Amino acid sequence: KAIGIDAGGTLTKVAYLDEHNELILSTFPSNDLQAVKDWIINNPDIEDIGVTGGRTEQLLDVIKTMKSIHYIVEFEATLKGVRFLLNKGGYYFERSMITNIGTGTSIHYMEGNTHIRVGGTGIGGGTLIGLSALTTGITDYNEIREMAVKGNREGVDLLVKDIYQGMDTPIDGHLTASNFGKVGITEAIKQPAADILATVQGLVGEVITTLSIQYAEEKNAQHIVYIGSTISNNEHLVNVIANYTRTKKHTPVFINDHGFSGAVGALLNI
Ligand code: ATP
Ligand code: MG
Repeated sequence: KAIGIDAGGTLTKVAYLDEHNELILSTFPSNDLQAVKDWIINNPDIEDIGVTGGRTEQLLDVIKTMKSIHYIVEFEATLKGVRFLLNKGGYYFERSMITNIGTGTSIHYMEGNTHIRVGGTGIGGGTLIGLSALTTGITDYNEIREMAVKGNREGVDLLVKDIYQGMDTPIDGHLTASNFGKVGITEAIKQPAADILATVQGLVGEVITTLSIQYAEEKNAQHIVYIGSTISNNEHLVNVIANYTRTKKHTPVFINDHGFSGAVGALLNI
């Protein structure tokens, strides 16, 4: 059997195909690579391991003597996996942007069989957890995700219409004029944790979307495929990204198993 492993900054993703050619996926925290080794030991039929991701060196320190190892560079693995998952989902785009929201964010332009990393930002999943933890004390990703759905950004974000009071707005009044901007100009400094978490997600989502759209316009690509575990089951963040992308006249695309693109690419590379 062959498996693909993407050892990322936060999460290590594993992918393989079962006897019915179904993708089987699992996740380990990247600060516990020993658990990955134990899992491999418990699956003695594994012969080949495709590896990728920024934590590959540390992963190999733990597993290198075990099996036949096949390394592939992270961006190559990610795009290989994205192509496979897009195809599996019945999508084909001649030109598209691929925005990978991992611990940090990388943005790629994909055209036919070619791709190039066009840019990125340090605003990513790590930012989401870091800012959430510092502002609310909540560090657990699942708790952040679930609470954010119940939160309301209105008391924290300053919208364009909040500035242009009683006047016509020069741009859509519901756009964010200033993320967290209401706090500094109103009296209520204390905000409910759910509202802060929703607003942190808003900030992260809007920065990433804004940047992705700028590249999409430069490259004349209509579709932006958003991937990465940061948006896995993260309803609030997905909504922010989808709505803002549509507001800016582009088409957001979300594919199944997107968080495992790198692991799938590493598997296909064997
Ligand atoms: P990079 O590609 O930047 O090296 P990575 O591959 O580890 O990082 P992903 O796995 O795509 O990145 O996404 C990591 C992010 O996903 C975290 O920062 C967090 O926001 C979110 N996340 C989703 N599930 C979890 C989880 N179980 N534990 C921690 N973070 C999670
Ligand atoms: Mg990654």
